[in-house]
Amino acid sequence: MKLVLDSGLHNADIKNYLLNLNCKVLQEFNQVLFLSKELSDLEQNTLKGKFNSIKCFTNSQWPLATTIKPCKFFINEFVTIAGPCSVESKQQIHTVAKTLSELGIRYIRGGAFKPRTSPYSFQGLGIIGLEMLAEAANTYNLITVSEVMSETQIDLAYNYIDIFQVGARNMQNYSLLKALGKLDKPIILKRSTSATYYELLNAAEYILSGGNSQVILCERGIRSFEPMTRNTLDISSVPVLKQLTNLPIIIDPSHAAGLRSIVPALAKAAVAVGADGVMLEVHPHPELSISDAEQALSFAEFADLVIEMRKIYTAMKPA
Ligand code: PEP
Ligand code: MN
Repeated sequence: MKLVLDSGLHNADIKNYLLNLNCKVLQEFNQVLFLSKELSDLEQNTLKGKFNSIKCFTNSQWPLATTIKPCKFFINEFVTIAGPCSVESKQQIHTVAKTLSELGIRYIRGGAFKPRTSPYSFQGLGIIGLEMLAEAANTYNLITVSEVMSETQIDLAYNYIDIFQVGARNMQNYSLLKALGKLDKPIILKRSTSATYYELLNAAEYILSGGNSQVILCERGIRSFEPMTRNTLDISSVPVLKQLTNLPIIIDPSHAAGLRSIVPALAKAAVAVGADGVMLEVHPHPELSISDAEQALSFAEFADLVIEMRKIYTAMKPA
């Protein structure tokens, strides 16, 4: 159980009082106290009466922010987000949107501001790319997902993006996270390649504490000693994070694998492990992708995978 305190309160007084209730403070985090036991309704009410501005939470430990409404998407559905690494042309993104719509997929991704390892690689089409993405999405009534890399891009991108993405490289870009905390749109927060769960949850907390409760965590592979895959998918992240937080958690098998031949197996594992969704890179001509060509699925591969993921999801639903 956790108590969230107002900054005016003295923790020492509250801790003493809790000891009378045979309850210890296990951990202290800013104005949040994690307790050793659940308090009864009577105990909670007495505590609130004695110390004003105290809130008691019996749910998961994270988020720490006090008022959390769940994301408007990702409720009672397994979300599949798909599309190219980068928006490359009107025709490319239009073809993708049409295919997704035919397969009953509602979320389209496409990068326009691209965080590339090398400054000499394609950096994305910027706002023009977002216009193309939004136009294709509107035609087929799809929800758009795209990344912004800095605060200055948020206003420019606002009308084109339904769900903002924070890339792995920007997970700890705190001024970006704070600015996204002021937004009224969902944010997919990707785990950095070397972030612990604690660091990921704290990065999420930057957005949540600003007032934006629509955060979706995304595991996209972490750096390990294994060079055969681009990253190593940390499948444990889903059950571990689900014990710690009520935030939705999706998996991006494309960036974890880096190789299209193993993406479907990882995507199916994501469904089986209880993730709330997946994000997949799909391209009309994968080998011609301007970015991340090795990991993009063809339409045929993607269509087969969608059928298999649906089978697993249905099999896992409680009767
Ligand atoms: C992406 O989604 O295209 C991307 C760059 O992902 P990541 O930040 O996980 O590398
Ligand atoms: Mn990519």
